[in-house]
Amino acid sequence: MNLIKKLLEPHLRKPKPSDENALGFGRFFSDHIYKMNYTVEKGWHDSRVEPYGPLLLDPAALVLHYGQEVFEGLKAYRGQDGGIYMFRPRTNIERMNRSCARLCIPQLPVDEVLEHMFEFVRVEMDWIPRANGTSLYVRPTIIATEACLGVKVSHEYLFYIIVGPVGAYYPEGFNPVKIYVEEKYVRAAPGGLGEAKTSANYAAGLLPAEEAHAKGFTQVLWLDACDRKTIEEVSTSNICFVIDGEVVTAPLGGTILPGVTRDSALTICRHWGIPVSERRLTIDEVIAAQKDGRLREAFGTGTAAVISPVGSITYQGQDFAVGNGKTGELSRKLYDELTGIQLGTRPDPFGWVVKLA
Ligand SMILES: *Cc1c(COP(=O)(O)O)cnc(C)c1O
Repeated sequence: MNLIKKLLEPHLRKPKPSDENALGFGRFFSDHIYKMNYTVEKGWHDSRVEPYGPLLLDPAALVLHYGQEVFEGLKAYRGQDGGIYMFRPRTNIERMNRSCARLCIPQLPVDEVLEHMFEFVRVEMDWIPRANGTSLYVRPTIIATEACLGVKVSHEYLFYIIVGPVGAYYPEGFNPVKIYVEEKYVRAAPGGLGEAKTSANYAAGLLPAEEAHAKGFTQVLWLDACDRKTIEEVSTSNICFVIDGEVVTAPLGGTILPGVTRDSALTICRHWGIPVSERRLTIDEVIAAQKDGRLREAFGTGTAAVISPVGSITYQGQDFAVGNGKTGELSRKLYDELTGIQLGTRPDPFGWVVKLA
């Protein structure tokens, strides 16, 4: 498949955001969009880059009514040497295909999508910010576009990628977050959509997040849907606990998102000789470990923040400080290691980094 480029004349392109230290997250978009269509007759076709702009969708498009959608989130970085890099991009596109399988969306051709995504990022290279900790966020998305009000699997799809500069997640340094253990609502039940990156999971999390924010919390810790005891994940990150010198996190049992950052952090810990356990872990066990001083750290893992240290956990109205409420030693080390690998300032023993330019 060829990639067709219809690019804007340079004088029609937008000015870049003037302050790279105030980019925030997901507020700026580049000049172009990557698109590819799917029909039953033609399969995936018409791979192209065109000017960024609104989509033309039939109001009956299936995605708007029944949520047949999947997405991904990854980043392109400007390395220390001025080169352009992405971190484990194949893992994201392969995960997207697993999300597609769950949502009855046709599989993407992984190699072609990667090649075209890299070419699109090269087209938008000037949008990659330079300030410390900033990057270009890349959002691949697939939506069901067939017009039909019957509940069914769509016969037509649009795959698109939008990109935009995002800020340092911790402009004032690494601040531990306060998390609220959610007992009323659940994110995903066994057999549901929990391991797919699909919009329905985030829609389900909005009301719990609003209620937690109103109580002063930044993140919600999800428990399992069956007995509200087993730890699953936190808002849009996976979560790890350091108990008795071991890194413990929920196994990939179908109800949590298999995070690329989770896998990278666990791989690095094993490489460093730190014991890692992917096993069922209850909130009671975490609270008991906190009470007798065995819970040393907790941290979230995700593309946006990389590592987010947890300062306290609130469960059934009681606050439990994690460590001394400050960023833990392992959280800091993992953050430095992962961002170092991503920016090319540290060796990449696992071959995770792809150089685009
Ligand atoms: C995207 C996401 C994660 C983190 O995945 P990464 O690949 O590390 O970015 C974790 N949980 C949920 C619910 C997510 O949507």
